[in-house]
Amino acid sequence: MLEIVPVSAFKDNYVWTMRNATHAAVVDPGEAQPVLDYLRREKLALAAILATHHHADHVGGIAQLLETWRVPVYGPKNEPIPTLTRAVSEGDSVTIAELGVGFSVLDIPGHTRAHIAYYGAGALFCGDTLFACGCGRLFEGTAEQMYKSLEKLRALPDETRVYCGHEYTLANIGFAKGVEPGNSALRSRESRDRDLRAAGKPTLPSTLGEEKATNPFLRCREPAVVESVNKYLGTRVSDPVSVFAAIREWKNKS
Ligand SMILES: [Zn+2]
Repeated sequence: MLEIVPVSAFKDNYVWTMRNATHAAVVDPGEAQPVLDYLRREKLALAAILATHHHADHVGGIAQLLETWRVPVYGPKNEPIPTLTRAVSEGDSVTIAELGVGFSVLDIPGHTRAHIAYYGAGALFCGDTLFACGCGRLFEGTAEQMYKSLEKLRALPDETRVYCGHEYTLANIGFAKGVEPGNSALRSRESRDRDLRAAGKPTLPSTLGEEKATNPFLRCREPAVVESVNKYLGTRVSDPVSVFAAIREWKNKS
């Protein structure tokens, strides 16, 4: 049976590691050593590496992993990742035979120019695009691209488990409460996630249903969110892309 476990890297990155009794595949190994340690400890063979985008804290460990394991490296077409062996984009699928699992690739540009997500087995690996109660910064794309990417993810089933690249949840919830102080789902999420962090546990994965109920970046059409954004801007906007862009800017400044 497929299990997905977080291997911690740097300060707040997760290298999501899919595994069964004998094999593993890793998503976004920014660092090699924690992954090598995990594989050795668990006596697992690496079967594949998946990358969502080119930032060093997501791909920096790939070269060192390849020194030990000759495995396919999947990642986005049109991003500078020299260690890739299989460049993929929307419409492609990734099969990891050793784990008996397959993923569809989704193009979700915005954080970077060609950021991708992997969706399969009820799980979504979305890198730095959708975060628990937040979203990634716009380094290479426009607000409109990011909004469309998030809408694409939003259309997946509510029970989809969301595996994002960083443990940012509590800070994101703090910001979200400022946008939507009356959202009771946000308050219960905060108390649960505070307890998880206090116990040293990850707040991830979340579910898409939960993100739709609490993540302001997925709630750009909610009247309370629009109202709050208008107060922040001191002017009236209502189209969701403008609301999204304003929340993103507000968060950057918070
Ligand atoms: Zn990134």
